[in-house]
Amino acid sequence: MEWIAGLLHAGTLLLVNALLASLASALFFALYMGHPRVKRQPGVMLWGTSYAAFAAGFGVLFLPAFHVGFPGLGLVGNLLIDLGAVWALLAVNAYLELPRRRLWVLVPVAAMALAELFLVLVEGENLRHMVILGGALTALLTGATGAAFWQCKDEAQRPVARLAALFHFLWAAMLLVRMSWWIAQPVEFAGRDPTSTFGLLSRIVLTWVITPSLLWMLTRKLDAELIRHASQDPLTGVANRRVMWEEGQQRIAASTPRGSSVATLIIDVDRFKSINDRWGHDGGDQVLVAIADTLRRHIREKDILARVGGEEFMVLLHQAEATAAKDAAERLRLAIEKEAITLLSGETLHCTVSIGYCVSTRREKSWREVVVAADQALYAAKQAGRNRVVGTGD
Ligand code: GH3
Ligand code: MG
Ligand code: MG
Repeated sequence: MEWIAGLLHAGTLLLVNALLASLASALFFALYMGHPRVKRQPGVMLWGTSYAAFAAGFGVLFLPAFHVGFPGLGLVGNLLIDLGAVWALLAVNAYLELPRRRLWVLVPVAAMALAELFLVLVEGENLRHMVILGGALTALLTGATGAAFWQCKDEAQRPVARLAALFHFLWAAMLLVRMSWWIAQPVEFAGRDPTSTFGLLSRIVLTWVITPSLLWMLTRKLDAELIRHASQDPLTGVANRRVMWEEGQQRIAASTPRGSSVATLIIDVDRFKSINDRWGHDGGDQVLVAIADTLRRHIREKDILARVGGEEFMVLLHQAEATAAKDAAERLRLAIEKEAITLLSGETLHCTVSIGYCVSTRREKSWREVVVAADQALYAAKQAGRNRVVGTGD
């Protein structure tokens, strides 16, 4: 059993903590430097800095094992660890883009750090006072960091963020237990700290759990960003042509000879070239964003809206017969006609759209044929004078 006692020796635990934190710090700095997409994520650099401060703090506390010491060594080591905890809170706050006002906790933390400094200057390093004040300070920071993780709104990251939050709460609870033990001790007790093994072990577990959790969250966030870039129109934020084609082909494949129909509308802005000529390309872009917003507000939740060309949109209706498709198209045409579009310059304009639709029942058409038919109907609507709906399908 002696080897276990040896392993649990405070020096060994400090060393393991310092090494783990250095490794985590190096990992986050390497990710930050090596990936432009990671570099754009707020908080990653702060995570690297936080772990570097933890590594430095545990490293300083480990120095006496090499017979190196200086006055205030314990205070410097502990303050570096506290700084690491501050940076961890800032990192999570930045990464999850939480409001800055959540950082109010730094005010009592700063007050406690100053009190700790003051006490050391007045009475020298008193282990009891340092554990109590330092423990309260770190518990506060750790609890706030856990609460920040708990606030994660992104569903893809939330399960791991909650796990990270729980481990922070556990560490904060452990610090409170440690503080309580010291508060309960008679004042004259100033021997070695029997709770530090427990504290250092918990910190090892925390780093060991949090680092992969953070990496996993980062991966989920970057994946979600990639998927969004691949499926979203960057100007208007609606789906792009790729999504529309995939969904359309899937709907056709899923429709049965006697069952559901597939209804598609192609919506083209009338005389958009003259809007560009009159208001400039930037004005034209603002009009496209406004039109996309109006369309989005007037479709049903299960309908799919995509921008498929310069000033062309498509809507894939969720199950619609011919009359329902015509009604939906009329509703959208009217909504655009009525909408007063206000440009950033404050000027207001109105525009209209022509809509061609095609409804395919009994699985008679391929997706390509549906699109061609809707496009031909759109052409007919333009020929007939614009600002109108023309459709095909039974
Ligand atoms: P019609 O009623 O027959 O549809 O006339 P139109 O002027 O809308 O059609 P046309 O196809 O002649 O012109 C479309 C214009 O849309 C031409 C192009 O410069 C403009 N356009 C295409 N993409 C964008 C874009 O992303 N932003 C802006 N501002 N204009 C665009
Ligand atoms: Mg066009
Ligand atoms: Mg047009």
